[in-house]
Amino acid sequence: MATVTFDKVVKAYDNGVTVLHDINLDVKNGEFVVFVGPSGCGKSTLMRMLAGLETVTRGQIAIDGQRVDDLAPREREIAMVFQDYALYPHKTVFENMAFGLRLRKTPKAEIEKRVNQAAEILQIGHLLDRKPRNLSGGQRQRVAMGRAIVRNAKVFLFDEPLSNLDAKLRNEMRVEIKKLHRRLGATMIYVTHDQVEAMTLADRIAVLSGGYVVQYGTPDDIYNAPRTTFVAGFTGSPPMNLLQLRVDGKRARAEGIEVPVPDEVLSRLDAAAGQQITFGVRPECVFHGDQGESLPGETCTLKARVVVTEPLGAETLCTFDVGGQSVVARLAADARFEPGAAATLRISLAKSHWFDASTGNALQQRRAA
Ligand code: ADP
Repeated sequence: MATVTFDKVVKAYDNGVTVLHDINLDVKNGEFVVFVGPSGCGKSTLMRMLAGLETVTRGQIAIDGQRVDDLAPREREIAMVFQDYALYPHKTVFENMAFGLRLRKTPKAEIEKRVNQAAEILQIGHLLDRKPRNLSGGQRQRVAMGRAIVRNAKVFLFDEPLSNLDAKLRNEMRVEIKKLHRRLGATMIYVTHDQVEAMTLADRIAVLSGGYVVQYGTPDDIYNAPRTTFVAGFTGSPPMNLLQLRVDGKRARAEGIEVPVPDEVLSRLDAAAGQQITFGVRPECVFHGDQGESLPGETCTLKARVVVTEPLGAETLCTFDVGGQSVVARLAADARFEPGAAATLRISLAKSHWFDASTGNALQQRRAA
C-alpha cells in the first residue's frame, strides 16, 4: 500500500520535443487512478516514468514520500500489467507467475504459497499447469495480473490491459479488475484511451491532452463539471453537445436557439473574444415533446430538424440540426422521427454549461452532481 506523487514532472525525449509539461498529481493510498486521453497525449510515458522504464527530465516522482525516479525499476516495488500480457510462451502458468519471485531468490515454499493465493483470487487455480497458448485472452490477462499480485508490490500499474480483448470480454475483465482492486485494496494506476473504462474504474481520473493534465477529479467531477470543452467533448458517449453562440446583452443566440446567459458567466466573459461563447449540454439533458414540457426550472427551446434516428434498444439517439449545428439527444426507446421533420427541443438551463469560445475554459463554477 502506498501513495504516489508526481511533482512538476517534465519529459522531453532525445529529439528535444517536450511531451509532458509540469505534471503535478497525487495518488492516495489504495486509490484507483486512471490516466485517460487520446493517443499521443503522453499517458504511457507518464506511467513508464513511474515504473522506471523512462527517465524523468525534470521534477520528481515519489512513492510513500520517498523519491524513486533515481532508483532502478526493480527497486521501486511496482508491478506492471501490459496489454500484450508479456507472458513467457514456454513456461506454464505457475512458472510465469513464479518467475519474478525466483529471480528474487524467494524461498520455494513462499513462492508456492503466493502463486496459489493469487491463483485463488483470480480463479485460475485449474490452469496452473497450462502453457499460455492454451489459454483464452481473458485467462492470459488474469495470469498477467497474477504475476503482478504475487510480487506484493506497493503500486500496480496497468497499461491499456484490455485493449486486445473483444468488447464482451473487455466488459467482463473490467468488472474483474474492479473486484481485484476492492479485494487487494492496493494503489492502482491504469492507462487507457477509453473514457468508459476510465469512468467505470476510477476513484479519480486524470484527463491528459497534449502533454498536460487538463483535469484531475472524480468521475462525477469530470462528467458533471468539465473544466474545458476538451474534457466535455471527451467524456460521455455520445459526448456533450457544444454549440457556438453570439452574446448580445444578457442573451446568447444562434439560428434556432436563444438562451439567457447567467450573470456569473457574463462577468467572466472576455469582451475581446468577439462575444462568441460555447454552450454545452449533454445528450441526456436534451428533451423532446411532452418530456420537455414538464422540465423543472428555467428552460430554453431549440428549433430543430431531425437528421437521423438511431434506435439502440433501451434508448434512441437522435441527431438534430439546429441552424446548421448538430445536437444529439438521448431519447426514449420508442422515439421515432422522420428525417427532415421539424422538432422543438427543450433544455434545462441548470444542466447546461458555458465555455469561453476562444480558450475552451469553463465560465462557471459547476459542482459535481
Ligand atoms: P499515449 O500513451 O498517450 O498514446 P505516449 O506517452 O506513448 O502517448 O507518447 C506521447 C508523445 O511522445 C507522442 O507524441 C509520442 O510520439 C512521443 N514519444 C513516445 N515515445 C517516444 C520516444 N521514444 N522518442 C520520441 N518521442 C516519443
